[in-house]
Amino acid sequence: MEHTSSYYAATANPDARFPKLESDLTADVAIIGGGFTGVATALELAERGLSVVLCEANQIGWGATGRNGGQITGSLSGDKAMEREFRRTLGDKAADFVWDLRWRGHDIIRKRVAKYNIDCDLKFGHLQTALTAGQLDDLQATFELGCANGMGDDLTMVSKGEMPDYLETDLYIGGLLNRKNMHLHSLNFCLGQAQAVVSLGGQVFENSKVIAIEHGSKPVIRTANGSVQADKIMLAGNAYHLLEQPKLRGKLFPASLANMATAPLSDADAAALNPHDLAVYDGRFVLDYYRLTADKRVMFGGGTNYSGRDSQDVARELRPALERTFPRLKGIDIDYSWSGMDGIILNRIPQVGRIGANVFYVQGYSGHGIALSHILAEITAECISGDGSEFAIFENCKHWNLPVGRTIGSLMIAVGMAYYSLRDRFER
Ligand SMILES: Cc1cc2nc3c(=O)[nH]c(=O)nc-3n(C[C@H](O)[C@H](O)[C@H](O)COP(=O)(O)OP(=O)(O)OC[C@H]3O[C@@H](n4cnc5c(N)ncnc54)[C@H](O)[C@@H]3O)c2cc1C
Repeated sequence: MEHTSSYYAATANPDARFPKLESDLTADVAIIGGGFTGVATALELAERGLSVVLCEANQIGWGATGRNGGQITGSLSGDKAMEREFRRTLGDKAADFVWDLRWRGHDIIRKRVAKYNIDCDLKFGHLQTALTAGQLDDLQATFELGCANGMGDDLTMVSKGEMPDYLETDLYIGGLLNRKNMHLHSLNFCLGQAQAVVSLGGQVFENSKVIAIEHGSKPVIRTANGSVQADKIMLAGNAYHLLEQPKLRGKLFPASLANMATAPLSDADAAALNPHDLAVYDGRFVLDYYRLTADKRVMFGGGTNYSGRDSQDVARELRPALERTFPRLKGIDIDYSWSGMDGIILNRIPQVGRIGANVFYVQGYSGHGIALSHILAEITAECISGDGSEFAIFENCKHWNLPVGRTIGSLMIAVGMAYYSLRDRFER
């Protein structure tokens, strides 16, 4: 399948196309899924000298990776649960590990863009905004924690009075500016990494859906026209696959997140709206997120539905929030609108594990996957190439399995999320 009709697809690097698998190959590692999880792991493995073959059912970055808000922040929605669960393996060091995890992906991504010279509009600067006093208190606590951990130079609390210097809206009562956080063209970043895999001798195939995994000491993945026999297999299909259901059923539930891009703004309008070119999201549980693209469109996302199906009319759903945030944009054309699925995990800790000895899976970032997928790619590659110590930290986490199908599970999660949305609405 072609990419969805997103801003990212319309501005994708046209040179980054990959063939279809049409033969029987062997490799050290075979990877299923060409989003950040699969592609970044392939690159980590190729850098370590392993031979790797990646099969993507559609096109590289076709899933959540080519549809997201492009915001790379230190947010871990499962941080409390992580700290609790990581204690099983790390004891008292769990809190420090979680703190480092917040920023580890930033370094991987920044260095990778520089190393492979990937053209993906990478920019620094993010503002998390508060709509309520409670959210502002949370931001203040994050600010103090950051300062205590040596990040004082990267962080600034923004008062209500200073807000007009950052955004042309009167919605917010304050915010936390973070200069370490980033935003980028997510699809081009993924495509650039896939090209880097090929430059290192790895093989990347598109339009090559894996239809079967055959287990054994040398497991095999099969597509309609070919196969790959490998020492190890990695399953990186996230919310878009139904492979290995006897083991994975009830673990991950797809949620649809919506996103859109306006017509390009004039330089004057863009400078008035968001003069520091920051990525922004607010402090609610189900939040609005936005930023300017390289060609000065407002990319605006928000809302989440847990039906496991994409929204039918994203622009109509999101326009009221866009216009409420920026009255200047009333009536602006929406050139692109789209939605995509991310995998929601009940405790919001990404799920990592093995099926048998040699089929690895990594999935479920609950809406915050850009940095996390790169961190887990590094950790999985370390494990596959011999050091499983960090993989074990995630693998040892307890996860709930809902003994229901995806539709019912998504509905159950929707009820929980509706509670949080209501709580956000009435919070002061
Ligand atoms: C609208 C939206 C906004 C978001 N905004 C942000 C954000 O601003 N910041 C952030 O950090 N995170 C954000 N996220 C989350 C983030 O994009 C994801 O967590 C991340 O991209 C997941 O990457 P992945 O590789 O695991 O999954 P995906 O990118 O979904 O990739 C899975 C791939 O596997 C392929 N596949 C499935 N089955 C098979 C098969 N049988 N054979 C071969 N291939 C298969 C699919 O075609 C797909 O390309 C957002 C997500 C969405 C949907």
